[in-house]
Amino acid sequence: MKKLLTTLLVFLGIFLAANGQHKTQNLVIVTLDGMRWQEIFGGVDTAIMGNKKFTKDSAGIAKQFWAADAVERRQKLFPFLWGTMQQQGQLYGNRNAGSNVNVANRYWFSYPGYNEIFTGYPDSAVNSNNKVLNPNENVLEFFNKQKGYAGKVAAFTTWDCFPFILNKHRSGIYVNADVDTLHFNDASLKLINDMQFLMAKPINVRPDALTYFAGREYLKAYKPKVLYIAFDETDDFAHAGQYDQYIKSAHAEDAMLADLWQTLQAMPGYKNNTTLIITCDHGRGDKVKSQWTSHGANIAGADQIWVAAIGPDTKPLGEVTNSPQLYQRQLATTFAALLGFTFSPQHPTMQPIETILH
Ligand SMILES: [Zn+2]
Repeated sequence: MKKLLTTLLVFLGIFLAANGQHKTQNLVIVTLDGMRWQEIFGGVDTAIMGNKKFTKDSAGIAKQFWAADAVERRQKLFPFLWGTMQQQGQLYGNRNAGSNVNVANRYWFSYPGYNEIFTGYPDSAVNSNNKVLNPNENVLEFFNKQKGYAGKVAAFTTWDCFPFILNKHRSGIYVNADVDTLHFNDASLKLINDMQFLMAKPINVRPDALTYFAGREYLKAYKPKVLYIAFDETDDFAHAGQYDQYIKSAHAEDAMLADLWQTLQAMPGYKNNTTLIITCDHGRGDKVKSQWTSHGANIAGADQIWVAAIGPDTKPLGEVTNSPQLYQRQLATTFAALLGFTFSPQHPTMQPIETILH
């Protein structure tokens, strides 16, 4: 009898999943490369800000972003995350409040992190940032194969490794990376294309703001069902030991997220049926004596990340405290479940983050 009941419940579960209990019709994913959870949940770091080696204009950064209270500090740095996201979405990863999110891969740098996000598989063979084609199927190409999704999946990235990470030639999804020419008739995209070739490149690739505008204008003109935007500046400025620039890029990216959410909520076909998920590829060290600048398996804490979500299926829990341990690899199946799919590729995957789904 118990067995029969279990079988019935399993079938009920499949039935509900198949009958679209989800409201999400479109999915937007944004990553901030190497953005530390310490700043997401605690705002600007007082010690690093006060260290002249890392912060030339300590007074200027303090004036704009510092407050004695951590909650006030984080609101100054990330007004969108601690405004709209806190009120209507969910934020995971504040280890000081019992919410741990970690990468499951053992390398703690970019390519293995993005591979884990999109394939759900912390493959030990994916162990460098070299431009090698990713052999693992990713959830974006899975979407592109679903009915009504072909040609409706696009990625705009600052880092020029993404065409390899997402294996764009195999996957067939549109990946525009660094200064890949924007071959579009749309007037805004033509302007952005001119700008990306004429502007200075402080981190030697396309500035994040242009990556954002390219993604936003593509969204308006071509209406993708799944859009991915990958920022990079936070990681580059951190490696360079420029804490002030790292903070300013983080703050600008929060403003772009606000603009993106506002844009989505103003578009017919996207309003009230789009989920936005924001995360990062890896963490960084936690010490003033330079470890904050770095990451990788030899830097303690570089496996610590965070996740934020907002959308019609995601309950407004705000900052989630004392949550179960979460992993980066759960994101791929979470993305699929939000759109009503089960991502079951050749490689192993992990269950989605349930609390984002209901
Ligand atoms: Zn890095």
